Amino acid sequence: MAQARLSIDLGALCANWNALAGRTDAEAGAVVKANAYGLGVDRVAPALAAAGARRFFVAVAEEGAHLRRILGPGPEINVFSGHMDGDAEMIGGAKLTPMINSIDQMLRHVESLPGHPFGIQLDSGMNRLGMEPAEWSALRDIALAQSPTLLMSHLACADEPDHPMNAHQLQAFRAMTDGIDVPRSFSATGGILLGRDYHFDVVRPGIGLYGGLPFVDARPVVTLTIPVIQLREVEPGETVGYGNTFVAPRPMRVATIAGGYADGILRAIGPEGYLWAGEQRCKILGRVSMDLIGVDVTALDFEPEALELLGLNQSVDTLADWAGTIGYEVLTSLGLRYTREYTGA
Ligand SMILES: *Cc1c(COP(=O)(O)O)cnc(C)c1O
Repeated sequence: MAQARLSIDLGALCANWNALAGRTDAEAGAVVKANAYGLGVDRVAPALAAAGARRFFVAVAEEGAHLRRILGPGPEINVFSGHMDGDAEMIGGAKLTPMINSIDQMLRHVESLPGHPFGIQLDSGMNRLGMEPAEWSALRDIALAQSPTLLMSHLACADEPDHPMNAHQLQAFRAMTDGIDVPRSFSATGGILLGRDYHFDVVRPGIGLYGGLPFVDARPVVTLTIPVIQLREVEPGETVGYGNTFVAPRPMRVATIAGGYADGILRAIGPEGYLWAGEQRCKILGRVSMDLIGVDVTALDFEPEALELLGLNQSVDTLADWAGTIGYEVLTSLGLRYTREYTGA
């Protein structure tokens, strides 16, 4: 079998949720948007619910409706995009809680689903989603009369603890919400790590659950093992892969492995990247192809059957550094061609 194996440790996932929940007195929800950051919401969400998560966050109503079928009645499902045109049936039917972003969404919601729960998203400076301070001042009394269940905002620079934007946004959020008797939510993974001033009543960890930075103490959740299809010897001066970007300086043994950029192994990792054979590190040679990668296995004294790209030796953030991106993008890029295996449930 040439299909690579993506193994997801649900035990580590739940340990990460518990560890983050343990750093706060606030209620810890779980962000499972984008198919649980690519890891499979069908397995991730029930595991987190069993660990104690009672509130989940998704990006769009369709994800929320799917999640409701997985979780059944009970857990609260908050939708970041709020209440978009055409969403009423889904929001009503699946008992989703939209995080209302604007006056227009507010009107749409109370007109199409009177009495249906909703939260409010406020912009504290990121200029992405939510009502701005002026809009909020104008709408606030009307909105509060409809009894929102949550007031939330989002930090732009929480992964940089010393960034002045954090305190600036905290002050803006407080100015908009202090004195209002509605639960508040402000922090994702990064905000949880900034300390209790940032926690309020509900926290929304995502990446930390899945083993990514900025949660440096996260347990690794993902292991990616890629079979070797072929081993070959190359002579000095021979090349490996597209564009002849790698020229062998000496006799080498090259393993061709069954994974490539179509599997979300970003082409940009090529020049810097490694895989592992047990405890030995093996360099990527030349360009990452769509379905294949050449790897230097000259130093191994055995013939590897598979090499590890993600696991205890290197994380999604290691790969992200090589590619000039972030762990979130590495995770959510992981393709559909893997055999997925869930352990530790
Ligand atoms: C994605 C997202 C989160 C989770 O963020 P992490 O950095 O993955 O913990 C929380 N809140 C909002 C609004 C988000 O968009």
